[in-house]
Amino acid sequence: MNLVFLGPPGSGKGTQAQKLVEKFKLAHLSTGDVFREAIKGQTELGKEIKGFVEQGKLVPDELVSAVVFEKLRSIAAKKPFLLDGYPRTVDQAKDLDRFSEKEKIRIDAIINFAVAADELIKRLSARRSCPACKEVFNLVTRPPKRKGVCDKCDGPLIQRADDTEEVVKERLLVYDAQTAPILDYYQGRNNFVSVDASNPISQVFLDVLFQLKALGLPPL
Ligand code: AMP
Repeated sequence: MNLVFLGPPGSGKGTQAQKLVEKFKLAHLSTGDVFREAIKGQTELGKEIKGFVEQGKLVPDELVSAVVFEKLRSIAAKKPFLLDGYPRTVDQAKDLDRFSEKEKIRIDAIINFAVAADELIKRLSARRSCPACKEVFNLVTRPPKRKGVCDKCDGPLIQRADDTEEVVKERLLVYDAQTAPILDYYQGRNNFVSVDASNPISQVFLDVLFQLKALGLPPL
């Protein structure tokens, strides 16, 4: 069962991805995580993309698609996967179609997480993340048990550099202009579904499972 998650920043894609990955033992490929690791490790890729990520802009399509496909080729041979944060432009979606056809890698479901913009701004400014294990908290809806400390691995929590108010606004503008048109591109495909991601985490998770089941997933 290979899945693609779509949705604006703050829609809870990452949180839901972690839950599904655990439940169905999927490989999790998050382009945002790949890019943050590359920046932290000061790799060639990291140096190339740092400016884009820190300003809330999209990394150029050719670069993102090349990174994703290199990783997917090795991941897909071993495990079903969940792609989180890609595609983010219509050109990336077209690249993914061409790639999956050429490599005979089927995408079983494309799930869109829909949330209104004012809710996203609230969520992103309260978001705290653990860079070590990638667990995500929210100071309002899901605070850590100990202030500033990850419940899962005891690591220190941070506010992502691109979760500051100014960059959040830019990321939402970028989403509307460059990413939202993907929804029209996928509309009408029988493996494309949408969930109301403004609901609490547990409800959204149940909705995702329900939608997958309706598509006959995971296959028996
Ligand atoms: P995320 O963690 O998914 O919010 O991604 C963080 C940042 O990484 C984004 O704001 C972009 O700068 C970059 N990024 C992640 N995925 C993509 C993508 N598919 N295309 C272009 N840029 C991306």
